[in-house]
Amino acid sequence: MSDTSKKPLKILIADDDPTILRLLSYFLTQEGYQVVQAADGIEALTVVRAAHPDILITDWEMPGLRGPELCRQVRSLMLPHYVYIFFVTAKSSQEELLQGLESGADNFLSKPVSREELLARLKAAQRVLDLHKRLSDLALTDPLTGLMSRRALLGALSQQWQQSTRSGKPLCCVMVDVDFFKRINDLHGHAVGDIVLCAVAQILRESTRESDLLGRIGGEEFCVVLPDTTSLGGTVWAERKRRRIASARIPVGSQMLQLTASFGVAERHPDTQTADQLLDQADQALLCAKQTGRNRVARFEALVETPGGSAGPAGREDLFAGVLARDVMTPIVVTLSEGDTIGKVAEWFTQLRINSAPVVDASGKLVGIVSEKDIMAEMTSLAAWQRPVRAVMRRQVISYPAEVPVRQIYEFLCRVALRRVVIVERNEPVGTISRSTLLRWFRNLALSRGLVGGSDLSPEKPDPEGAGSPSENKDEKKSVDFARKLCEQLDQLAAQLQKHLQSNPDELATCLVGTATAGQSLFNDMLAYSQWLRGGGESTGAISPTFIASGHTD
Ligand code: GH3
Ligand code: MG
Ligand code: MG
Ligand code: MG
Repeated sequence: MSDTSKKPLKILIADDDPTILRLLSYFLTQEGYQVVQAADGIEALTVVRAAHPDILITDWEMPGLRGPELCRQVRSLMLPHYVYIFFVTAKSSQEELLQGLESGADNFLSKPVSREELLARLKAAQRVLDLHKRLSDLALTDPLTGLMSRRALLGALSQQWQQSTRSGKPLCCVMVDVDFFKRINDLHGHAVGDIVLCAVAQILRESTRESDLLGRIGGEEFCVVLPDTTSLGGTVWAERKRRRIASARIPVGSQMLQLTASFGVAERHPDTQTADQLLDQADQALLCAKQTGRNRVARFEALVETPGGSAGPAGREDLFAGVLARDVMTPIVVTLSEGDTIGKVAEWFTQLRINSAPVVDASGKLVGIVSEKDIMAEMTSLAAWQRPVRAVMRRQVISYPAEVPVRQIYEFLCRVALRRVVIVERNEPVGTISRSTLLRWFRNLALSRGLVGGSDLSPEKPDPEGAGSPSENKDEKKSVDFARKLCEQLDQLAAQLQKHLQSNPDELATCLVGTATAGQSLFNDMLAYSQWLRGGGESTGAISPTFIASGHTD
């Protein structure tokens, strides 16, 4: 047998006539083919799905599912390779021939089947299957190194991703990039560059598990997917390969070339949302390896996680020390019930000037989140006004307990596309933290230390000792100061509105909306501030949360 032929071809025969099944099976097994039988169309379809035969020989008339319908259904399946389909039929009119071809058949065998004709036609089928395999191998293999092509690797990664999310087993991705490869090309020419790429591919391939997936995904970039491996395991693998590449001497003419490569390692975590994101994280780690000197391995987690779990980068102040999610979150104004209509949500969002809200079940537990964007997607017909929120909400909400150190949320929001997380207590939503919340917190912190210029709220000079170690008295004084400043801001808003009312009564609407927006932000901050005071005004760490008018709700 041919190329496809390393393994015998698997042929499925579907016929409701046991005599034909027996006869064909006999012919084919004698020739070394692997034969599977099905007594009707429905059984045949199940076998095609489960056993992926190379060739299907099917009867026309069968109970349940007739041949042409079986054929159509097989063609609509996503199968790992092409299935060559024969009809065995007594039918010979042109109309039936056309119907058979249209349903997706490749060839016909007429009843009674002659052994010689069957075998001759199978040879033709094999040629077609070999061609299919060669074409798909070409698309899936990198011709230079023989590793998987970018397309094949991404496809395989997506499969591994699904398996890993189902089983909960770890999945690790490593990006590899040859250092200063352009120089090798420039100094020795492209042909030598190609030899070097093959040598690197060979080193990556050496003593790599069969389940590991190796691909060349760009010029001198490789990607390796390691199933069932954590990022620590992946780092060990990468470190071994890094050393191996650095110590290799690649013979080129009379010279021996030396080179190095950098590696970025990332692992799928529960908060990694897609396979693309995993690749992106490995890429970010690779970039870090490049930026910190090349010829090294960087692990994505290590870019965000720090020794001891919460300390900042060595030598830098940890702004978040001791600050909890609860200290920073924006308290939740509105939660929605699953049965609320889109109309009601639109009404609330508009009136309350919020752009997303958690959805809770009857017992108040968090079940989803709905945002302006989800509502906008429904703005195709007015009928959507009556649809329930449960139909449009996103069920995957990233939530954190209120006692979690805010640093953890900060690191999460730094590295994902998501803009906001929900803060829960006993699985009931109590607040949100978004990127804007953190920015506002950062700005407020700077203000509390007198660092923000151009603001009427920052009269203090920077404290030479830093506010990281304020005395209790100082803290108390600041609280009073900020409360006073909040009141001043409210006064200012009221005064502005009064002034507008007198000078520009025509623009009242614009002015009202603007003042209301600023006022709402201010009230949010006051609310949070008062909550902080109610909690005894104590933050567990060196920094007291300080709240000032933010001009921004999120
Ligand atoms: P860095 O350490 O920052 O990765 O530097 P570099 O020179 O390796 O990276 P850069 O991206 O600047 O250059 C990559 C080079 O790879 C440029 C391109 O000409 C070369 N290249 C891309 N594909 C091939 C190929 O198939 N064969 C050869 N010989 N060279 C290739
Ligand atoms: Mg029949
Ligand atoms: Mg490079
Ligand atoms: Mg590169």
